[in-house]
Amino acid sequence: MAMSHPECSSRSPWSGQLVLVTGSTGFVGRNLVPKLRAAGCTVYAPSRAEYDLLEQQRVRDMFAAVKPEVVIHLAALVGGNVPNKTYPADFCYRNLLMNTCVLHEAHQAGVRKYVTLVGGCTYPASAPSPLTESDLWNGYPQAESAPYALAKRMDIVMSAAYRAQYAFDAIVFVPGNMYGPHDHFEDGSGHVIPALIRRVLDAKRRGDPVITAWGSGSPVRDFVYIDDVCDILLREGPVYSSSEIMNISSGAPTTIRDLVDTIAELCGYEGTIAWDTTKPDGQMHKVFDITRLRERIGAFEPTPLREGLRRTIEWCQCQ
Ligand code: GDP
Repeated sequence: MAMSHPECSSRSPWSGQLVLVTGSTGFVGRNLVPKLRAAGCTVYAPSRAEYDLLEQQRVRDMFAAVKPEVVIHLAALVGGNVPNKTYPADFCYRNLLMNTCVLHEAHQAGVRKYVTLVGGCTYPASAPSPLTESDLWNGYPQAESAPYALAKRMDIVMSAAYRAQYAFDAIVFVPGNMYGPHDHFEDGSGHVIPALIRRVLDAKRRGDPVITAWGSGSPVRDFVYIDDVCDILLREGPVYSSSEIMNISSGAPTTIRDLVDTIAELCGYEGTIAWDTTKPDGQMHKVFDITRLRERIGAFEPTPLREGLRRTIEWCQCQ
């Protein structure tokens, strides 16, 4: 990614500070923690066994013991439509409680900066694409993931409330459809990019002539390479200070059909792609408006999808 400052990924106003990262073993955490360390931050990344973030007293203990200056709260119960539909109460309860405990105790402990991410599903199901920050409150999220999405929306409400009452510097970013190393490649149940990379590589290895992708191939998504998100977090996290959310994405539309063809080509797979139209397409058009991001960081050239996919496939093949 090229931004106006060429060394943005290796320097940060957080250099030399103690940064507590929750959810450090998740997709974003695994990519972000090495970058924070490379930028000279001291990172504390507690495991769930050490501090259960659903227990307010344990969260309080953690802040008392660690005394971080910065908190990057990434821990969340996440999953696709099927787990969201099966366990809506868990998605609501755990995310609400965890976010409430971490944000409140961060404020009580005198943390100077609190940063969190909420997913694009937080936007209303009916929001026009490209998704603009000001549309966040103009409707109910997609029904299947609403308990999760509304719990995440409360992060935004709480951040604004603590800013208004206590001048607590809490900010919320909304990344687009992220992909890259450390995504969930295991069993094909993750998002489209890791699922298809895994399926194509397995099919190539076995010599299968056909692989199946979900839906019609017509939906449009806005994919953003994880390094770009982490670089922006490092650069904007310390200086962005607002109750307004900010989208972080590439702003570039890609059809699922083009995406799958590119993955097959980059993997050297010569078989056929079959489209299983009994599987859901989801939203037909989901692109993020990144005007606010561009206004802040000037020239921003997201990693081209082809290049990000090439690096992701290479990483996956080395696992
Ligand atoms: P989301 O729809 O933005 O939450 O993101 P996903 O990555 O789950 O899906 C994006 C698009 O890819 C949807 O239109 C899916 O129907 C399509 N898709 C095609 N094949 C797959 C697959 O194997 N897994 C997933 N998750 N999505 C797929």
